[in-house]
Amino acid sequence: MRTQRQVVDYSLRKRAVLRELLAGRVGTYDVCDASPYLKNAARFHGEPTDERCPICRSENLTHVHYIYGDELKQSAGQARTLAELPVLAMTVREFQVFVVEVCLGCDWNHLVEQYLLGRDGLAGSPEGGQEQDAVGGAAASGNGAGSRRRREAQR
Ligand SMILES: [Zn+2]
Repeated sequence: MRTQRQVVDYSLRKRAVLRELLAGRVGTYDVCDASPYLKNAARFHGEPTDERCPICRSENLTHVHYIYGDELKQSAGQARTLAELPVLAMTVREFQVFVVEVCLGCDWNHLVEQYLLGRDGLAGSPEGGQEQDAVGGAAASGNGAGSRRRREAQR
């Protein structure tokens, strides 16, 4: 999605968990602990992937998208299908998405990534407006954008 911002990727952490598992420092029991809620969310709102489960290798992983944010009110903390997210992003200024991978075979689950969505990130957001307001005096100096950015940074 084009409007994704502040993306945090958890694949390194996942690899670390898998290494620990391979080394026998944690058991599958510790990492394959998907709750009934998470598994239901995966069944009803999940996005099937082509990626094999790294633990049992017999099922493909399902991605569950959880949404968080004050503007979502009672919807905060709920799972949404991937198709619902762009629609929501048009109506809400900003909300957080957490993507969790789940295996419905062995209950493996891990955070994949998190990011922000919402109208705030779309073109024509208030950011463009601010820039125009600031042009006034700086435009004459020739490097208005640079000095403006420096001033922003000093605030
Ligand atoms: Zn599995």
